[in-house]
Amino acid sequence: MSNSMKAYERFLDYISFDTQSDSASETFPSTAKQLKLASHLEAELKAMGIEAELDGNGYVYGRIPASQGCENKKGFALIAHMDTALEVSGENVRARIVDYKGGDIILNEELGIVTRLSDFPELAESIGEHLIVTDGTTLLGADDKAGIAEIMTMAERLMTDNSLPHPEIIIVFTPDEEIGNGVDRINMENIPVPFGYTVDGGAVGRLEYETFNASEAIVRVHGVSVHPGSAKNKMKNAILIAMEYAALLPQHEIPFCTEKREGFYHLGEFEGTVENAVLSYLLRDHDYEKLREKEEMMKNAASFINMKYGDNTIELSIRKMYRNMGEEVRKHPEIIKAAYDAMEELGISVITEPIRGGTDGCRLSFMGLPCPNLCTGGYNAHSRHEYVSVESLEKCTEILIKLAEKLA
Ligand SMILES: [Zn+2]
Repeated sequence: MSNSMKAYERFLDYISFDTQSDSASETFPSTAKQLKLASHLEAELKAMGIEAELDGNGYVYGRIPASQGCENKKGFALIAHMDTALEVSGENVRARIVDYKGGDIILNEELGIVTRLSDFPELAESIGEHLIVTDGTTLLGADDKAGIAEIMTMAERLMTDNSLPHPEIIIVFTPDEEIGNGVDRINMENIPVPFGYTVDGGAVGRLEYETFNASEAIVRVHGVSVHPGSAKNKMKNAILIAMEYAALLPQHEIPFCTEKREGFYHLGEFEGTVENAVLSYLLRDHDYEKLREKEEMMKNAASFINMKYGDNTIELSIRKMYRNMGEEVRKHPEIIKAAYDAMEELGISVITEPIRGGTDGCRLSFMGLPCPNLCTGGYNAHSRHEYVSVESLEKCTEILIKLAEKLA
């Protein structure tokens, strides 16, 4: 790939690779097609004069040495993921650039697919920009190829312009983030720096360093099946007991009724027969104590049912999934401050809101690499209505360059 490409040109190149991951796969990475983009990125980094390696697990690592005079500064990592989401295909993305003046965007006349301003009011933030959109048959892949394009464009600029001060920067491109395995085989030895940033966020100015604390709770109900005609005082209907269990939990602490820093119990799956029923819950809260309270509530509800219907009617298992990275990141306020200052200096107003989900940064933060999440400029991730503007790709690249300078 030739040098001096603009961020949006790189972006258009990367989205031509179909890199959808697959949660049903047993291989790592989950799909071999991700490796095509991985080796393309490895070659591109090398062509810039950057030490780079695509390892056997599909991770790409690159290392930009510190600029002259910054050798003693702490280095940092920039991390983005190569795969795209499962919800919508990422094959044969036909992107188009729209000079956006407001109103609805017709993605596909023939299929009647329209990105409506009434459905996506935040479109108004992008009036006057050049939006890269799909033809409505695929997602765009800004999540997270926008992040990759911004990191690559930054890398190329740092490598060609000696006037830009920066410490050592480790670049990491991961596979399989969308199926929750992006960190599974990451090699921390290749990331010998004290902190990093995932570049996997939304609108320009977003800086995220708080996530949910997350647990998963599986409720197994054991019933007793008897012919319904002669079931009196014998049958224990697992389905009914499961419904009773669900009704014991706080009825308004569910995704439909919660926002901002409010946690929830999310019943995500329910299967049942008279003999056996299984309820699968996701428990979420930004506050770890409150997550523990939710776990306690689940346990108390199980004890109540067991008292009523007999021991072992309900078997409850709770598994911790991830923790709020804020706990770790707050120990290093300078990481947030550098990102904050970089954006402010570029005239961008910073928005920090807790993420109602998790990121790869959560796990990395608890693996010793505190990792807030930076904006990419992308909107409507995982959707055929996904878009990112040429201008935001450039802006986010500038944020990365400024951030490197702040840390130099
Ligand atoms: Zn992402």
